[in-house]
Amino acid sequence: MAVGLAGAAPEPPAATHSGLNEFAPDRRDGQREYESALNSVASAAGLREFHDLLASEPHIAGSAGDMRQIERLASAFRAMGLETEIDWFWAYLPHPISAELEIVAPERKTLSVQEPPIEADPATAHPDLTIGWNGHSGSGEVTSGVVYANYGTKDDFAELRRLGVDARGKIVLARYGGNYRGYKAKFAEEAGAVGLIIYTDPADSGYMRGLMYPEGGWATAEQIQRGSIKVIPWAGDALTPGVKATEHAERLDPEMLDLPRIPVQPVGWGAAQAIMEQMKGAGVPEKWQGAMPFPYRLEGGPDLRVRLKVEQERRITRTANVTGTLRGTTKPDQLVIVGAHHDAWCHGAADPTCGTMLVMEAARSFSELARRGERPERSVVFGGWGAEEMGIVGSVEWVEGRREELLRKGVAYINLDASTMGPLFNASGAASLAGLVREVTTLVPQARDPETTVFEEWSSRSRATGAATAPGAPPRVQGMGGGSDHIGFAFFVGVPSLSAGSGGARGTAYHSNYDTLRWYRQVVGDDYEPGLMNTRVVNLLLARLSRADVLPLRPSAWAGDLRDLSAKLVERAKALSVQVDPSALVSATEAFEPVAQRFEAALRDAVARGGDSLERARRVSDDLLLTIERRWLDPQGLPGRPWFKHVYMAPDDDSGYSAWPLPVARAAVERGDAAAAQEAISALAARLGDIGAALEQAGAGL
Ligand SMILES: [Zn+2]
Repeated sequence: MAVGLAGAAPEPPAATHSGLNEFAPDRRDGQREYESALNSVASAAGLREFHDLLASEPHIAGSAGDMRQIERLASAFRAMGLETEIDWFWAYLPHPISAELEIVAPERKTLSVQEPPIEADPATAHPDLTIGWNGHSGSGEVTSGVVYANYGTKDDFAELRRLGVDARGKIVLARYGGNYRGYKAKFAEEAGAVGLIIYTDPADSGYMRGLMYPEGGWATAEQIQRGSIKVIPWAGDALTPGVKATEHAERLDPEMLDLPRIPVQPVGWGAAQAIMEQMKGAGVPEKWQGAMPFPYRLEGGPDLRVRLKVEQERRITRTANVTGTLRGTTKPDQLVIVGAHHDAWCHGAADPTCGTMLVMEAARSFSELARRGERPERSVVFGGWGAEEMGIVGSVEWVEGRREELLRKGVAYINLDASTMGPLFNASGAASLAGLVREVTTLVPQARDPETTVFEEWSSRSRATGAATAPGAPPRVQGMGGGSDHIGFAFFVGVPSLSAGSGGARGTAYHSNYDTLRWYRQVVGDDYEPGLMNTRVVNLLLARLSRADVLPLRPSAWAGDLRDLSAKLVERAKALSVQVDPSALVSATEAFEPVAQRFEAALRDAVARGGDSLERARRVSDDLLLTIERRWLDPQGLPGRPWFKHVYMAPDDDSGYSAWPLPVARAAVERGDAAAAQEAISALAARLGDIGAALEQAGAGL
């Protein structure tokens, strides 16, 4: 029975979001001054300088360039006067040795596995650039016929079987998009394929989208998307689940890991075209046709034979996270963390450095104010994470190494991976942080349009695209899935996390040797206005999280979110013909919302009254708000993947990128287990009831 599922609760209009309700009245002017001082330190020129510094050479995790990158970050933090730490770890990482791809019959032809340099962009000729490779591919050599599997999703392989196409013993060709590439490899292997070629189709990222690099920004025929294909049920280093990968940590036997066994090779569509235009089998379903100029086919037939050879090495590799900490004055053990990874497949001007440069510019803003004698109450940690591209390793090791500390004292984490890809702002993450994000975006001018605020542009775009829930409703902050460095913070230790940034660039150089400063400046822009806009948003988020009297976390936002999420769960259950009754969670949500709203109002009032009330409010912040997100953690973890502890949100189970809200119930629905889904719904309702009771009690004491 679906009760009251329609429509989220109305939210207050934007104007009331810009206040400083979590600050005592006599501190509000000072905070406004602090914030505007921070944002006048931040500059486009500062961002450009960090971008030049950090995207100056290729720096794959574990390489000599990586070691130099670690030193560059550490010296920059030291020069700012931050407490600087190089946090070494020893992780099981893949390294490329060689790759060969050729058509052997009907006519022998060697195909390209590395981008040729582009004359207009000398960086693309850098000697340290590598062949195209998928980290953690199996090593080996196969010669066989081919099968085309569209995006290589679970559904695509099911469709292949339905169409009577047997991938056993074949080399599968699949295009990028639709899921995390690791699942393409997993499903290909499960279907019995002996090899996998992943290519970029012009329909998805090439000429069908616009002009190609260097004229425009879209992928050329030779452009190759590298990327890890690791799929194991825990995040971070493959050999040390749940604990830090120190030099002498106890390790699993690599033989026990379920890493890919078949050779997997990424290519551009030039190489894919050479193979696919010679295929002879039946035509593909309409949606499987990409944009190469011939009808796609399911099978290559007996005459077309392809040879693929991939050689990689997996070994324990030393690399590091680098952090710069600005110690807080009165609550130095409470940690507000902002970070982005520093490793890249190549130069990484876009991924990750257009995000890493924000971390550095925010660090420079806060250090400059510290130099003038103004420090935050809580500590702010600026992080550059290592080996993210090898399967989100460094940040997870950092979190695992500080598990107890983060459980007790982690305030929030802001992730800025490749976060400035255009002027259009967006944020995803914990619902409890959504109000704060909306609030600070009302205070920052929109890039290249100073008459408008970020909030106004974001809202009107959300309305236009239907992303807002109701007319006049503020933009949604959707839950986060996998795919970047927030996962350790959000899902292992329950630190409320946010991914903030902007998009809208016309093109992609994603994980290719063309991801250079020249590409970025031509395609995203040379003005660094979007970067400056994002830095200002980040500075304000950090300034409020690190200086407020009570933490600007708003658990009442879970109510609107949960209404929406339970409706979606029911929708999904219906689609799979699974009987699910959400009413327990729906009524718990109805009961929770007014309780949480009363609590937040009482807290604001107490802050506004000052004196003893303010002291009580500050204690409630330390004793309850600081750890409230942790109430969604289950120490047992999710069924089948115990590393993931958060029962409100998790990455999905079969694409790896998207969010799976209410993951225990969702997983049960997916496998058709109505009883387990029902049990998970009751457990969530009970948990929400407990949180409500805690808020009620704390509110009464204010
Ligand atoms: Zn990245």
